[in-house]
Amino acid sequence: MAEAIATVCPYCGVGCGLKVRPGVTVEVKPDPTHPANLGRVCSKGAALGETLGESDRLLQPEIGGVPVAWDAALDEVACRLRSVIDAHGPQAVAFYVSGQLLTEDYYVVNKLMKGCLGAANIDTNSRLCMSSAVAAYKRALGEDAVPCSYRDIEEADLLVLAGSNAAWTHPVLYQRIVAEKQRRPALRVVVVDPRRTATCDIADLHLALRPGTDAWLFNGLLSYLAREGGLDQGFVETHTQGFEAALEAARGAAPSIPAVAAACELPAAQVAEFFRLFLRTEKTVTLWSQGLNQSSSGVDKGAALINCHLATGRIGRPGMGPFSLTGQPNAMGGREVGGLANQLAAHMDIEDDEARERVARFWGVPTVADTPGLKAVDLFEAVADGRVKAVWIMATNPVVSMPDADRVRAALQACEHVIVSDCVRGSDTVACADVLLPAATWGEKDGTVTNSERRISRMRAFMPPPGDARPDWWIVTEVARRMGYGDVFPYRSPADIFREHAALSGFENEGRRVFDIGALKDIDDAHYDVLAPLQWPVNAAHPQGGARLFADGCFPTADGRARLMPVTPRAPVVVAGDEYPLVMNTGRIRDQWHTMTRTARTPRLTTHLPEPFVQIHPLDADLWHLSDGALAQVTSPQGSLLARVRLDAAQRPGAVFVPMHWNEAYARNARANALTAAITDPISGQPEFKHAPVRVAPFRPV
Ligand code: SF4
Repeated sequence: MAEAIATVCPYCGVGCGLKVRPGVTVEVKPDPTHPANLGRVCSKGAALGETLGESDRLLQPEIGGVPVAWDAALDEVACRLRSVIDAHGPQAVAFYVSGQLLTEDYYVVNKLMKGCLGAANIDTNSRLCMSSAVAAYKRALGEDAVPCSYRDIEEADLLVLAGSNAAWTHPVLYQRIVAEKQRRPALRVVVVDPRRTATCDIADLHLALRPGTDAWLFNGLLSYLAREGGLDQGFVETHTQGFEAALEAARGAAPSIPAVAAACELPAAQVAEFFRLFLRTEKTVTLWSQGLNQSSSGVDKGAALINCHLATGRIGRPGMGPFSLTGQPNAMGGREVGGLANQLAAHMDIEDDEARERVARFWGVPTVADTPGLKAVDLFEAVADGRVKAVWIMATNPVVSMPDADRVRAALQACEHVIVSDCVRGSDTVACADVLLPAATWGEKDGTVTNSERRISRMRAFMPPPGDARPDWWIVTEVARRMGYGDVFPYRSPADIFREHAALSGFENEGRRVFDIGALKDIDDAHYDVLAPLQWPVNAAHPQGGARLFADGCFPTADGRARLMPVTPRAPVVVAGDEYPLVMNTGRIRDQWHTMTRTARTPRLTTHLPEPFVQIHPLDADLWHLSDGALAQVTSPQGSLLARVRLDAAQRPGAVFVPMHWNEAYARNARANALTAAITDPISGQPEFKHAPVRVAPFRPV
């Protein structure tokens, strides 16, 4: 029997370790030694072995739909990018990548764009899931640095889950919470979510607040803590700045429990209970996710939440901290290498002259891009209006996942140079490609990913890629060489890239940046192969990695202090009205992942919720003449979709829920994001996926 190979699940940001035994039937088991899951797995991870195989795989490069050899495809891509840059400048080229890429893939594509091509137009689908949390951390803590570990969740006495249905979106983390609650019934769990989700099954308190009002709740908590003597004055005075302004803003917006209750449309007794719990429970971890992030004020919501932890000194200590849960397997690894358009590599700032000069020196290039590039929504807008003339999309399906998705599809169809690297044909974006590049996928490629708790794990290949499929890092490196950058793209393996990435993180760092894995810069191939999961930083001070950040109360800001940010809560940009009276919330279901290109390959995962649906409260269903199980048309100013009605009292009246997964290959006319508007947070650029006014009507075929 073949030996089991240790690797990592390619789905969510929990980053579970798996043991895979290759063979005719690939056996996938949870890894009992991996610190993220400790032998647990969820339905998606357990079914991974059934998603493999050649059906629907892209096996050969294509130009204009005609199969070609790799040399021809790579020459074509290099030639198209070069000709667009020569004719229109580097801003006319863009890359749109994915949290599915491994850190090594991300590193080389970011280097090509920012270090060689001369612009910073590289953004990622991680923009859609956690960029508001990134900005909130950066503003408050000085760096995009998640302070906690999963272990803190088990050491806390109070867990607040805000805008997170972890039971479905981070299932193994939820399993850890459930196990801890069973072991220690005194552990309190508060869920803040307009919907009663599966996560509420273990909640001691569920705050079903009005959609979009989270900042009022956390502002109200801050002003309550100040009134009730719940602040850590010593921590605030020694380790923070901005407290007075933040408190003044909080008091202005949410001066009392009745005011918070009114703004959030919650019973005052529930608000009071939450505030009392937070006041009395020092060991508190607040987890947040897309429910707060996917908002036109997502950064402010994160800031209001972080303010409460800074004001109480609940950060950097066991069982405490503000903890953003990332959606994707390598959203954090992408951030480490600068995979967002407003970042430089290794957590350096693109607008920092000294940092740019440092990175250019390290890379051996004359300059690096000096202005932030286009964030995801702006990037596709620039494709639509012709400013971007060549776009290379890797491992993601923006025709389904971007807001105003029909407009994105039309923009790509009209664009002259659309290059798509993907592993399957069942991605709607593949249909828009002028050049199609077959990529290797999970199980076929080597590299690293970083999960939500800063833990770097090795993703390991256990089978060869089918046909001519190749790893993304190889494809990008070959294009870079053909564009004349071979001297700075010398890579022969993912290990070569990892060493450079590690070296850059430690280069002239001297404690300026928390993200530092410089101690791994000389790792040899053999050690890279057996690298055990470890949390950054990994440097001289933390040779084995670090479980918790900011234990010394010292933050990577100019004065070493964290910043409380004043937050003036804002309502969603577009509110429900006569024409579109219901608010649509989009999100994930338990057994599907993103646009279903992998999870729909196994019947086991499609039985849970087999078809697109619109979840609606029975009172609303009565009002709009909808019956359970009937087909309904959901319409917004952007577009419409068809879905099965599911009556559910767990839904808040006035709001409906529609899953974001279905693509055209699995259900016609069911893309949730055909209905969402391209409205974003002004700082993070994250779209307002959680608040789209719609109307729902019985479907009447014409
Ligand atoms: Fe994979 Fe996430 Fe499930 Fe773990 S919890 S097995 S990482 S999908």
